[in-house]
Amino acid sequence: MQSQSRQGAGGAAISGRETPDTLAPADQAKAGTPPTGEALCRACGGSGRDPERRPCENCGGTGKVTIGIGGA
Ligand SMILES: [Zn+2]
Repeated sequence: MQSQSRQGAGGAAISGRETPDTLAPADQAKAGTPPTGEALCRACGGSGRDPERRPCENCGGTGKVTIGIGGA
């Protein structure tokens, strides 16, 4: 009787609650991955910090860098 549970008529806000088994914690990376591509900064290894504990200049301290796969 769960066929009627999909009452998402224009409800994009609940789109994440209807698929608990489909989206695993590890799969959320795919959902949030933009077309350009986001990868870990190689300079700091994703920590966002230099060996001297300073904000990484390559990624701005975020630990992530956006790369253009489209070949811009
Ligand atoms: Zn970095």
